[in-house]
Amino acid sequence: MERIYRPETSFVSLDFFQAGWAFQSMWNPNKYMNVWMAKTSDYTSRGTMPYVPNDYPLAGLIATDYYKDNPPNYVEGILFLTPGGSYAGTSLTHETGHFLGLIHPYEDACGGTDYCNDTYQYDKKSGTNFDANGYTTDCNGTKFIEKNFMGWTLSTITEFVFSQNQVSRLEHSLKYAYHRPGSSTISARMLNNNSFEKIPPFMSYE
Ligand SMILES: [Zn+2]
Repeated sequence: MERIYRPETSFVSLDFFQAGWAFQSMWNPNKYMNVWMAKTSDYTSRGTMPYVPNDYPLAGLIATDYYKDNPPNYVEGILFLTPGGSYAGTSLTHETGHFLGLIHPYEDACGGTDYCNDTYQYDKKSGTNFDANGYTTDCNGTKFIEKNFMGWTLSTITEFVFSQNQVSRLEHSLKYAYHRPGSSTISARMLNNNSFEKIPPFMSYE
């Protein structure tokens, strides 16, 4: 763990991932899952989606061979809103889901897809898609209790799940995606052979 001092007291979550100092503070993403904890002015945590090699594509992810021979050139990891509150545990799991290639089942409402056949696709309707008994209605009119880590859930839910298709995507990313610790891909081993080391924070204060 490393404490980084910044003059800002909060960040817009998207801007964070564009910041040079954030990039400079990143630990080798082939060895570590980077998690930055900070206040975000939009009260949003974010995780970056993985890139995959062209030989091992996964629907919804960008395939490229660039990172076979090049170190990461962007901020890779999770920005985690603090304090996390009662959702802290599931939020970190949720962002790690993104980090390993999962998409919201409500993304783009009924026009979208999370590329999983065993999750309910729905319009979360700005967080109001719940009936009096806590059921969500999916795009086919089916009612269900949303317990998915990647879904829009009620605060009363205490047990969360990933679906089998989601687990398959997580495993694919762990195995093949770039910059994912635990990856056994050839590309990851090639990068690990490079002497790419953590760069000290670009800007810091004592
Ligand atoms: Zn999300």
